Amino acid sequence: MADLIKKAAEDLAAAKMVIALTGAGASVESEIPPFRGKGGLWEKFDPMEVAHIDSFLRDPAKVWNLLIKDMKDLLDRAQPNDCHKGLAKLEELGKMQTVITQNIDGLHQLAGNTDVIEFHGTFAWQRCMDCNTHIETRRVDMIEIPPRCHCGGILRPNAVFFGEMIPQQALWRSRQAAIDCDLMLVIGTSAVVQPAALMPVVAKESGSKIIEINPESTPLTGNISDYLIKGPAGATMNAIVAQLEKMI
Ligand SMILES: [Zn+2]
Repeated sequence: MADLIKKAAEDLAAAKMVIALTGAGASVESEIPPFRGKGGLWEKFDPMEVAHIDSFLRDPAKVWNLLIKDMKDLLDRAQPNDCHKGLAKLEELGKMQTVITQNIDGLHQLAGNTDVIEFHGTFAWQRCMDCNTHIETRRVDMIEIPPRCHCGGILRPNAVFFGEMIPQQALWRSRQAAIDCDLMLVIGTSAVVQPAALMPVVAKESGSKIIEINPESTPLTGNISDYLIKGPAGATMNAIVAQLEKMI
């Protein structure tokens, strides 16, 4: 483990363009449960019922009551953890270009990363379905459900529901970043869900090194990733950044 931390710091020090791909595992230490997998939200709820665009359009109040209200409570309180802070520190050190994330919590931006590509949009903002005004989720008044814009239009998360397309610009930009980088950190994701799954493959085919930080091995391990540092995202990023700061 200590050897791999040192190796990761050396690889970061040598790299010219570093990007990160993050998933739910990057945010669990901020007490945001994952959607998929064990203990995930989709064990409690059927996503087709509570997170499909058709359900929302049919009955926005129901989706607000079942899902969005609780997520707002959770995310209004959530703070960046050591993983987010570590990635922000890498940017501050001139070592991190772009963060591509499957998460919708906005915590990378809150930590200080300035170029964050969000495959699934963001829950940190709501947008009016009539006039497209954007309102920060934490400023949304919950007296009325569904909450409304000053124009009377219904507010919806600025995130991607099931049944909606991944924003095309996010796809295009992340693919380009994967081609251009020479080191990709894959953190807290098994990268089995598209389009995230494609990015390490694109990076690898373009000659990039792939370092994986995950609690368990994934389909990427020993296949696409050069090596896996097994551990929680926050503590591992802390150790790598501390090691890197001694080197540069
Ligand atoms: Zn409006």
